[in-house]
Amino acid sequence: MGIIYFDICAIPLFLIILLVCIHRRMFKGSANRLFLWVVFISFFCTLADLGMEVTDNAVPLSPAGEIICNVSTYLYFFLRNINMPILLLYLFSLTRTTFLMRKKWVKLLFALPYICLVLLLLQNPFTNTVFSVSAQEGYTRGPLILAFYCGALVYGLAGFSYCIYCKRYLVIEKWCALLSLYVMAHAAVLIQFFYPDLLLEMFFTAVSEILIMISIIRPEERMDNEIGIQSWTSYQTDLKNIILSGERVQILAIRIQNAREIRNYMGDHKYNAYLSAIANKIRSFRWNRPNSIELYLERPGSIYLIADANETVASGIGDLLISQGGDELRVYEDMGVRLEALTCLIHCPEDLDNVHDIISLGHKFHKIGDRKKTSYSAGEIVSSKNFAVEAHIEEILERAIKQDHIEMYYQPIYDVNSGSFHSAEALARIIDPEYGLISPAIFIPAAEAQGFIIPFGDIVLDHVFKFLLQHDRDETGLSYVEINLSVAQCMERSLPDKIRTLQQKYKVDPSRVNLEITETTFENINEIMVENVAKLIEMGYSFSLDDYGIGYSNIQRVNNIPLRIVKIDKSMLDEAVTGNGMIILDHTVRMMKSIGKELVAEGAESENDVAMLKDMHCDYIQGYYFSKPLPAADFIAFLKERMEDKK
Ligand code: C2E
Ligand code: MG
Ligand code: MG
Repeated sequence: MGIIYFDICAIPLFLIILLVCIHRRMFKGSANRLFLWVVFISFFCTLADLGMEVTDNAVPLSPAGEIICNVSTYLYFFLRNINMPILLLYLFSLTRTTFLMRKKWVKLLFALPYICLVLLLLQNPFTNTVFSVSAQEGYTRGPLILAFYCGALVYGLAGFSYCIYCKRYLVIEKWCALLSLYVMAHAAVLIQFFYPDLLLEMFFTAVSEILIMISIIRPEERMDNEIGIQSWTSYQTDLKNIILSGERVQILAIRIQNAREIRNYMGDHKYNAYLSAIANKIRSFRWNRPNSIELYLERPGSIYLIADANETVASGIGDLLISQGGDELRVYEDMGVRLEALTCLIHCPEDLDNVHDIISLGHKFHKIGDRKKTSYSAGEIVSSKNFAVEAHIEEILERAIKQDHIEMYYQPIYDVNSGSFHSAEALARIIDPEYGLISPAIFIPAAEAQGFIIPFGDIVLDHVFKFLLQHDRDETGLSYVEINLSVAQCMERSLPDKIRTLQQKYKVDPSRVNLEITETTFENINEIMVENVAKLIEMGYSFSLDDYGIGYSNIQRVNNIPLRIVKIDKSMLDEAVTGNGMIILDHTVRMMKSIGKELVAEGAESENDVAMLKDMHCDYIQGYYFSKPLPAADFIAFLKERMEDKK
């Protein structure tokens, strides 16, 4: 007589798991779907087991009881035995090694035990060799029942061994939970084999599935459930496993260029729905194997698609999304949202074979590759020097700071009134032993983002002060040098003291140094910064505002901060080719001058630029027309040559 209480207890447990899965909206992603299948099947299997036992406990059976007992037993055997291979598939999916199953013979080998068991079940009504159900005796085991225990053992052992093999793909607690599942399943099968009345199997299964749910499926870790795309953490974990297992895949990085603007415009909630619509659109493209497509989200707006190597992934999906957005996206278009997406297709491992580089390329492809394109292919980018530099920028910066690979270049600034060069801007370069000369456009943003900018800026200050000691005004005619300061430097309380120390060490007159700050500095303005600026001005230093005209230039700000110079960004000069652009530039110059600021125009490249700026009575002009930034020695030679010409 079967003891049915364990089965009865298992039912609410399965229901809880199902409810939690539904509540967490775990329908997307292959691992989630497989787990849901496992729980569903376990639940119905338990119901079948109960049906079979309840009727069996009431022998002699009525004709209806006999039918119920028969149907439940067949259902139980079919379901129970399909669950083991699905569980194994779940393990593959969790470790991203499903691709191992792609070969036909592996699939056949995988399905073979189940096929044999199904055949045995199909012949049972005629032979009663697996089990029989009779009115008098109820359910009785037949000799071939052993085959079912063997089948379960085969899948169980396969899963157990694979689990042990997969330790490197999983973090330890997840690995333990999976292993415990197999240990419990085996224990239950064994106990039930010797004590058939103790219906432990489904109860043990429920407990181990709860364990999996608690320790493995952390939806906040794997899924961005509001959007229905897998999370950034999952992307990193899956990439790691892809590289470890040597799976060949294609990765498409889709970067929504205007993500921040769209989010600001729509608000978080609508923006999430928008991302969800984009993901659905991508899923709805005609894929050969739609189930093998995995999508991941990195906020604010990068979507990564991983597909297997044989899939046809068009690197122009971004263009497709824009041109054939479909109804899902048209709604948003009507709201005034225009999608600007860039894509980069990476063949892994052919193009790149390590996680760090793949992630780094996903972040930077649009900066490294040809800027005019919308779809890139990794193959073209990874061979360029810029990619290698971008990918290793952290170590390059560390090395540059430790071993001082920082060299200052100086770009002369033309003084319109005197027709000579009295000032210059100091611009940093890294000369790396491995990668050669590196532009600040690459390393300054990286240094700012990764916390290197303060030690970096200290070296810059030291170099420039030393330069000023070595070359006095009489020798070169150079009145002052402009030094760029980053936001973090301006916020450092010790900045004035550092500068005072350098001033004393190199005996430099503060009037020879002008400090450049940008508008972003003002956006981050705080008490320390205001104090620093005030102290430095008191010490005799002057300030200029760099890159005026990009971003949200604010004349009020310019008026409120004690600035000596305003530097007009090159983009304003570039715009001056149009009638209105020229009027704006002209009026900007006049306005600045009328509130008492000196003006530097940046980026003059042609004779026309220079003539126009002179006409507008701009005070100083900086640009390739006069000279590119030069290494110190060349710069001194440049100045001396010009002084000679003047004489
Ligand atoms: P910035 O301060 O606006 O410097 C002017 C940039 O414009 C320089 O680029 C200069 O080479 C470039 N430039 C000057 N004239 C022309 C021209 O006629 N045509 C064109 N196309 N470009 C011109 P560079 O040297 O690549 O520096 C880029 C930026 O990196 C700088 O922009 C500055 O924001 C930052 N930077 C450079 N050195 C330092 C530093 O020591 N510290 C900090 N915090 N930032 C620095
Ligand atoms: Mg500057
Ligand atoms: Mg500038």
